[in-house]
Amino acid sequence: MIAAQFDYVRANTLDEALTLLAQNEDAKLLAGGHSLIPAMKLRLAMPPLLIDIARIKDLSYIREEDGQIRIGAMTTHYQIESSDLLKEICPLLPECAGAIGDVQVRNKGTIGGSVAHSDPAGDWPAAIIALNAELIATSKNGERTIKADDFFVDLLTTALEPGEILREVRISKTAGRTGQAYVKMHHPASGFAVVGVAASLVMNGDGDCEKANVGITGVSSKAYRATAAEAGLAGKKLGEQTIADAASHATDDVDVNGDLFASADYRRHLAVVYVKRAIAAAIKRAG
Ligand SMILES: Cc1cc2nc3c(=O)[nH]c(=O)nc-3n(C[C@H](O)[C@H](O)[C@H](O)COP(=O)(O)OP(=O)(O)OC[C@H]3O[C@@H](n4cnc5c(N)ncnc54)[C@H](O)[C@@H]3O)c2cc1C
Repeated sequence: MIAAQFDYVRANTLDEALTLLAQNEDAKLLAGGHSLIPAMKLRLAMPPLLIDIARIKDLSYIREEDGQIRIGAMTTHYQIESSDLLKEICPLLPECAGAIGDVQVRNKGTIGGSVAHSDPAGDWPAAIIALNAELIATSKNGERTIKADDFFVDLLTTALEPGEILREVRISKTAGRTGQAYVKMHHPASGFAVVGVAASLVMNGDGDCEKANVGITGVSSKAYRATAAEAGLAGKKLGEQTIADAASHATDDVDVNGDLFASADYRRHLAVVYVKRAIAAAIKRAG
């Protein structure tokens, strides 16, 4: 299908984009366009105005500052996938980026667009939750920090308010012996996650798990923290049985989606299997 008629304006600075957004409350920001344009072509979205933020250079960066990793919202999946800095200090990010779509999608799609879109099968939300990221939202009224756990509200719905632009993703660097992994069952047609699990573990010197963070996507209307699974891992020696017991709680209190490709029961089963895989991979990497 062809998108409904719309106007287009390119913002060259963040301030310009914020002003345009404040003046046009029904406008949509255009980042990589890899979720918005398909939605417009299906007429699921019919914004009267697109504000193109893709060329705002100040929103595209990866850097370390004050013990945090800071990633500009317009940083592409490919920039994250290929970042030597991130491979060194937060390998979950490049691993997750590399699991997204295909090379064209990764070259154009952005972390900010993906997180702001809150696709229930998107990969970033699982990693963002497992890494306890902070999302920096900015508007004409100033800036605020939203915790990952509060950011994903529901299907295609986030805590961003009208007039706000997601400016930056911040992740605190974890000290000590850590292991991270992202594992995913790709949908054979779309490449999106049927189930995707991000795990980030902190281990102590005896090889016990001090802290476990597990984010899951693809399973429900939004990505979520597998709280009960985390509780089954933290403070424990992670043997096969402990991991299996913890993973069996992957979908506790979660309304599991079913569709033509994967029934709710099958997805529930996959979530358990992929939590086990993610934890096993993270332990291996913790050394
Ligand atoms: C063929 C194909 C396969 C794909 N496979 C996968 C996959 O396997 N895994 C996966 O996770 N994704 C996949 N995607 C989606 C892809 O990752 C998109 O790039 C991503 O979801 C959206 O990022 P974008 O930069 O393209 O955002 P856009 O499409 O430009 O925007 C998406 C939404 O976010 C809003 N927005 C954008 N930037 C901001 C911002 N900074 N602040 C506030 N709001 C903002 C827009 O207004 C819009 O509503 C696929 C897409 C395609 C076309």
